[in-house]
Amino acid sequence: MTLIADDHTASELPQLVSLDPRDGSAVASYPVADAAEVDRTVAAARSDADWWAAQGFAGRKRHLLAFKGQVAAGARDLAAVISRETGKPAGDALLEVVLTLTHLDWAAKRAGRVLQRRKVAAGLINYNQKASVGYEPYGVVGVIGPWNYPFYTPMGSISYALAAGNAVVFKPSELTPATAKWVEDAWNRAVPGHQVLRVVVGDGATGGALAASGVDKVAFTGSPGTARKVMAAAAANLTPIVVEAGGKDAMIVAADADLDAAVDAAVFGAMGNAGQTCAGVERIYVVGSVAEAFTTKLVAAAAKLAPGGDDAASYGPMTLGRQSEVIAGHIAAALADGGTALLGGPESVAGGYVGPVILRDVPESCAAVREETFGPVVVVNTVADLDEAVSRTNAVDYGLTASIFTKDLHAGARLANRLRAGAVTVNSVLGFAGIPGLPFGGRGESGFGRIHGDAGLREFSVVKSVAVQTRSAMIKLLTMDRSEKDMHLTERMLHLLHDPKKH
Ligand code: NAD
Repeated sequence: MTLIADDHTASELPQLVSLDPRDGSAVASYPVADAAEVDRTVAAARSDADWWAAQGFAGRKRHLLAFKGQVAAGARDLAAVISRETGKPAGDALLEVVLTLTHLDWAAKRAGRVLQRRKVAAGLINYNQKASVGYEPYGVVGVIGPWNYPFYTPMGSISYALAAGNAVVFKPSELTPATAKWVEDAWNRAVPGHQVLRVVVGDGATGGALAASGVDKVAFTGSPGTARKVMAAAAANLTPIVVEAGGKDAMIVAADADLDAAVDAAVFGAMGNAGQTCAGVERIYVVGSVAEAFTTKLVAAAAKLAPGGDDAASYGPMTLGRQSEVIAGHIAAALADGGTALLGGPESVAGGYVGPVILRDVPESCAAVREETFGPVVVVNTVADLDEAVSRTNAVDYGLTASIFTKDLHAGARLANRLRAGAVTVNSVLGFAGIPGLPFGGRGESGFGRIHGDAGLREFSVVKSVAVQTRSAMIKLLTMDRSEKDMHLTERMLHLLHDPKKH
């Protein structure tokens, strides 16, 4: 929760106060950065970007590992801040910190190998050239983040952007500014005097100002609707953008699946973090022969969950209070259109806390199947076979991740190839989250571009090609003064290299 206090005098900046969604108490308050302040911050970040780029891969690795050390040393403290701003149990917050450090460590150590300049073959005609490709920092990257994983998610962009040699100006969600400020402080302790990572606090207006500020790249994580606005703002300067948006991710349960494992993963994927996970499980397609057994086990497992405000709770409240209205709307429409509630129902949405809800046989046209619910609600629909599961999975506009449960790992891998998603797990959910080598991102309404992995490092790099002529060419083609002899030789070479009869 958040509010922008308006009781400021003309000489003071408006303050953004972040609130604990469990009891409404204030966590912290910061001045809101207006467009002029955003521009000043980006300008200041430019000189830090020059210093940072000049450190080279080895220097940056050293500083990034020092930053990692600061975060690791204060992990419990950071987890407490995350917990207060989001309402999630401390254990979930600590897991978020651990996963993030895995990525930061990997990006810091891997960047040099992936991004260093390397030779490429110049080819026969250009035998006199030395060709190479390099990956250079953009300069300043603007990162706009969400609130649901306020450290892990933006750090998926920040770690990789920094490792690729960019300075970062980070606009966190208005719900979680204290988490971002904690991270900025950790940076300043690790690398004093060089503010390569700067935070600007504010709501959508501050984010819009950052997107329009002329930063060299924007990394946006949030909803597809906001992504469109951010793209429009970035378009003014032709600023490139990577979009990590929402999901409506499906789990497919095959007839031969280990049902206990599938249920365990489904409950975690659908209900963990109160369902506020972009790559959480929101739909399950289970093959008819095991549908009854699966749903019986699923209901029994989910019925044990209890949301609450203490650390023993299965999950916390909705961080964004008004999300409860979206959840209630999806449940009501699904039931009105012929779906059945196997666990919970409209009564599960009680203020900020939402109990686990399992819906069955919901028409595929319903919002509960097609739109992001972002709550502890899952739809279980029965399919005749895996082909039907694939076509239903692929029929929504989102394409972030999907999961498959089957004992036949070859069949699982084949199915993975047929799913319209940026990442697929077989016999787990969210299994990619802690594997830094795997790029992450979606397609369709889930966005484009990649964070994490080698692709994530390259996402924050400008590709620079260099061709160095080491001696003059025997056949001179790149001149206004081509000789007949050279053209004759070229034609012979054309036939030699590209004659369709010979290949
Ligand atoms: P949101 O779209 O409401 O806001 C995201 C960020 O954009 C916030 O910092 C917000 O202040 C800022 N913003 C709002 N209006 C803006 C504007 N006009 N210009 C620039 N910035 C603006 O999303 P949210 O509610 O914070 O987060 C939840 C969404 O994020 C869900 O859809 C979820 O699926 C998605 N998400 C995606 C991923 C992923 O990696 N794919 C990860 C986490 C969350």
